[in-house]
Amino acid sequence: MVPMSANSASTLENTVLPAPRDGIAHAAPYGAPQLEVAHALNVNENPYGPSPELAAAIGRAATDAAVGLNRYPDREALGLRADLGAYLAEESGIPAPAAESVWAANGSNEIMHQLLLAYGGPGRTALGFTPHYSMYPEYGRDTYTDWVTAERGPAPEFALTAEAVTAAIEQHRPDIVVLTSPNNPTGTALGLDVVEAAATALAATRGLLVVDEAYGEFRRDGVPSALTLLPVHRNLVVSRTMSKAFALAGARLGYLVADPAIVDTVRVVRLPYHLSAITQAVARTALAHSEELLGRVATLRSERDALAEHLVQRGHEVAPSDANFILFRTFTDRDAVFEALLERSVLVRAVGPAGWLRVSIGTPQDNAAFRTALEEADPR
Ligand code: PMP
Repeated sequence: MVPMSANSASTLENTVLPAPRDGIAHAAPYGAPQLEVAHALNVNENPYGPSPELAAAIGRAATDAAVGLNRYPDREALGLRADLGAYLAEESGIPAPAAESVWAANGSNEIMHQLLLAYGGPGRTALGFTPHYSMYPEYGRDTYTDWVTAERGPAPEFALTAEAVTAAIEQHRPDIVVLTSPNNPTGTALGLDVVEAAATALAATRGLLVVDEAYGEFRRDGVPSALTLLPVHRNLVVSRTMSKAFALAGARLGYLVADPAIVDTVRVVRLPYHLSAITQAVARTALAHSEELLGRVATLRSERDALAEHLVQRGHEVAPSDANFILFRTFTDRDAVFEALLERSVLVRAVGPAGWLRVSIGTPQDNAAFRTALEEADPR
């Protein structure tokens, strides 16, 4: 037997670390700062937590599930998937998708990862439109999918037209297209004509269209959801999350709606029992209280519109937003403005084109603190 001391750090003889594969070796992990500040307006969370009553109900559901934690969870999560379908029918007015058309995972991050695992891969290409969510290229890297981009239209609208999307698809011949609506970090929602054009162009090459609607519930009145196109485009996937409007970022629950054949394909690449029994129980309880959890969405939307108007009045360039955040252009160096806001305990995000900052919509108190801090951090 090898004596313990031979294994201890002090006598370590082999100091060679294994080599990570290309693309991973010098990469940094995803890392939006998690700082203790009075006003965390940097990762587009819902600032309103559950009421004590709902927190207690979630606790009871977790306790009930805990009794069975010696067993693996329901691998197919069919109860949760049916509940998600019923919720979407209520939210978007579409006929309730059956459980077989819905798939759930640990955040829409995992949903997208699974989609790229199943439909991307070596020799395959995925196309996105910049500026877009910072994680997309990383899904590509992780799954050996070539992530290519085309640009959105000029600031401050950052619009995307059917013609531009069709041209980019013809140029890149992608296996996957990701359209984000409303888009992060710009807040821009897409017309259904853009989604239809992409789905039609991709049908010619058997490509997959993913519409990431992580912020879907915040869209302004009259702005449609791509969910309404599911019955006419078999190659369309709509991805949603409970992290934003639903105020459940900490539980990690994202989901997609698509043709059952697409769901079955994703089931091939998911890890066994990927969605814990606790997560399933918590998400189902939250869905049963959707009225409460979504109750602040109207407030957040009107706070967003008021803050956008305020920024315009100050003279900023502001991207029109259908989400729970606003991208705006600073008057001076954005990193200096970011730091000056942070000194005043307001944390925002330096993303998007150079010179722009993104601020999430918080409580009226958070938003007021942001306005006050900005007066000093970025004087007119
Ligand atoms: N899509 C977009 C556009 C996002 O902005 C985010 C999170 N910021 C996600 C997906 C992932 O969210 P989650 O994994 O919490 O569902």
